[in-house]
Amino acid sequence: MLKISAWFIGLFIVGMGVLVCPLIQGENQDASNAIDLARLSRQGENWKIIDQKGNPQEGALSLHHSKWLMYFLHWRPLGEERREVSLEDARKLLLSFWGPNMPFTLTGNEGQLTVAGHPACFVEGTIYNGTVRTIFIVWNCPQTGRQFIADTNINQARGTPIAYLDLQHQIALTTCCHGQTTSVDNALLIQEFKSDKFNLSFRTPADWRTREFPSPKWFPTGMTPTNGTLWTLLTTSEKHIELAWRQSDQALTPELMEFSLDKLRQKPIQLERLILNIKEIRLEEARLEGGRLIGSGVYKYAAQVGGKEFEIPYIFRAFLWKDGPRTHFLLASMAALKEMWQIPNDLTPSPEAMDSFVRNEVLPAVAAWK
Ligand SMILES: [Zn+2]
Repeated sequence: MLKISAWFIGLFIVGMGVLVCPLIQGENQDASNAIDLARLSRQGENWKIIDQKGNPQEGALSLHHSKWLMYFLHWRPLGEERREVSLEDARKLLLSFWGPNMPFTLTGNEGQLTVAGHPACFVEGTIYNGTVRTIFIVWNCPQTGRQFIADTNINQARGTPIAYLDLQHQIALTTCCHGQTTSVDNALLIQEFKSDKFNLSFRTPADWRTREFPSPKWFPTGMTPTNGTLWTLLTTSEKHIELAWRQSDQALTPELMEFSLDKLRQKPIQLERLILNIKEIRLEEARLEGGRLIGSGVYKYAAQVGGKEFEIPYIFRAFLWKDGPRTHFLLASMAALKEMWQIPNDLTPSPEAMDSFVRNEVLPAVAAWK
């Protein structure tokens, strides 16, 4: 079984081609009025309509949002060769750190700053024709004998907002490398990652997760307080919406929701260069609330790559409601990855993140929900 990570590695390398199903034109254009794409995307989220059909009486829409970012914090022993941090050192680090298979090109955006009270340098590079944009921030901590590298990354080809690179910069500025206190004026950074084992801490937004990056090449005998890497990933990177409506006088029952979910099983979606099919869709709970049926559950997207299947698990909220003679069905979902690059990491969005996605992003953009 090709691991889920191949999905991301593949996109990392060939993710330039954002191939979206051509929109169906002409008689089906009305379908896009069912959702306010500008409202949905107002926080810079890169939503795309990947399929639409129908008219105001009966139709369906599929939308997908994807962004890609990674924040690493590396620390290495502060040997003689690392005593001073210069822009030249930072450039060399960026160009060589991940090895010859990651051939970065410097952009010339570079400079100096202060991190955790230490002089620091930053340099920027891109890779794979600008697909990924990376900034290294490098500083030395003489108090603990370590050199730190904040390794900040976004995938530009997938439309990841530059704000996510800036946010990683802000995360780096919160690093406590020798027990000092830092103050960063950013209301998003409400979660503290603190490691007594590695004698460091930093702050992230609530929906990011941090864990060790156990590279056997870098750490054959394990990480130590003077040699290690942490990676921090966003849990809400992949989002998918299905919206459908038709004339119907059927009662809003869990059976009707099951029926609507089952229809998705027969509807492959094209995402970048992949055809994804829903499998194992399961409604775990459904209840009537204010005349609307609200459910939740899980499913997986499966795709064939090179004759092998890989899967992306999702969690969803589903809604059935009436609007005059029409019945509407909405599924709002987010990927709930359990590993990345074959390293276990529970990236399931929190219930709060799912609630916020549904209540603050999706429902206000659905015309018929009002
Ligand atoms: Zn320090």
